Amino acid sequence: MTAAGDTEETTARDVVTMDKIVALCKRRGFVFPSSEIYGGVGSTYDYGHYGVLLKNNVKGEWWRAMLQERDDIVAIDSAILQHPRVWEASGHLAGFTDPLVDCRTCGQRFRADHLAELACGRKPSKHPGETDECDLTEARDFNLMFETTIGPVKESGATAYLRPETAQGIFINFKNVLQFSRKKPPFGIAQVGKSFRNEITPGNFIFRTREFEQMEMEFFVPPGEADRWFEHWLAERERWYTALGIRADHLRLRAHDADELSHYSSGTSDVEYLFPSTAGGGGGRWSELEGIANRGDFDLTRHAEFSGEKLEYFDQASGERYVPHVIEPAAGADRATLAFLVDAYDEELVEREGSGEGEMRTVLRLHPRLAPVKAAVLPLVNKDGQPELARELHHALRSRMQAEYDAGGAIGRRYRRQDEIGTPFCFTIDHQSLEDRTVTLRDRDSLAQERLPIEGLAEEVERRITAPWKTPKLEH
Ligand code: ATP
Repeated sequence: MTAAGDTEETTARDVVTMDKIVALCKRRGFVFPSSEIYGGVGSTYDYGHYGVLLKNNVKGEWWRAMLQERDDIVAIDSAILQHPRVWEASGHLAGFTDPLVDCRTCGQRFRADHLAELACGRKPSKHPGETDECDLTEARDFNLMFETTIGPVKESGATAYLRPETAQGIFINFKNVLQFSRKKPPFGIAQVGKSFRNEITPGNFIFRTREFEQMEMEFFVPPGEADRWFEHWLAERERWYTALGIRADHLRLRAHDADELSHYSSGTSDVEYLFPSTAGGGGGRWSELEGIANRGDFDLTRHAEFSGEKLEYFDQASGERYVPHVIEPAAGADRATLAFLVDAYDEELVEREGSGEGEMRTVLRLHPRLAPVKAAVLPLVNKDGQPELARELHHALRSRMQAEYDAGGAIGRRYRRQDEIGTPFCFTIDHQSLEDRTVTLRDRDSLAQERLPIEGLAEEVERRITAPWKTPKLEH
């Protein structure tokens, strides 16, 4: 980890820019601008086939770390529409605001605390307020919650909000979970789902959008254990990203300064990733992937007060009654997906298949667990029994993992396509395969080729997918 502090840093090795990621995502069907045929709608995106698979894998790995690899966390899936009092109790109705300024000259609106990072649309690009012609208003608070109406008549009292975070759906279910899950503090409740924020200045592709997915977990602990569990979750969450391949020198933990802390939090640290700057040309920007907060007893106390329900824990053994404190790791599924894409993106000069000439290949060096497609089966020629054997292998693989069969076009082109979607293992069927039932495995990262028997191949691929993995980008 690098030390917290500065926000700009240069990374000599990186070939990646946000523009290249956006282009790759469009070209290979990961992410498209939403409502594109109608000219698009501000900063919303649709995930295509490989984007769905990749984001599902990110969420799957989060669930694995929260549920499968532990026995002190349970899952929940709460409603997006909740009682309006939830947002009064949580403080969102009064205080979930960002400071907004208008420019009287160009008519655009900006987030007042982000002016230095924003462009105001002039050519050449300028920050809002940078030129003499800019005429910015005083900042005023803008509530980020989307309002809607429950029921067919837009009458008073029926106003509801699209949830701006998943966390409150966990707090309001504390009592239910305590009763039915046979858990006692320390224990956690985890949730993955959509949240909505009417961001003033969304942007940077899927980094900040108005509709996004969160992966949040509230960990309820005896008050005296809060500091220890806070440290535990900082370490755990940092480990999760690096174990899934994020380069350690592109990830850091940054503790919030006292003036950044929410009023209820006694400590918050962000997991930050060094994203490429939008313009490219080297350099990067440390940006939040996940916030980990020590929230004390604020949430349960407030909901107890507003709902009239007792939200506490009674320890029958000790006779002790207390309101648990909460440690919250709150991550974004879309931001994490973007970070994994950026960190995996690589370009290298390779020899064009059989020609002796050099060509650039673009490759996503994704952790095999995250790769949208784990294995591709490619018959070398579309005849002589090769497609039939390739289909047989494809069927054996796809009963256990996401696998593709691709018989179209030159083999080099098919490899390039799999490289660009990050498929770690390509299997080529050739004439020898029909004689001895072996295939050639081409490794995405090293390009090494290896001859393996078809029998037991699916198990072998599974073994390789789950083995510890380190990005080869470290070695460049
Ligand atoms: P930011 O400072 O970037 O606005 P935040 O501190 O308000 O984020 P939290 O409320 O802590 O964010 O939400 C937890 C996580 O949810 C963030 O770390 C991020 O990964 C994700 N997230 C929040 N807002 C957005 C958004 N508009 N688009 C995509 N992801 C988001």
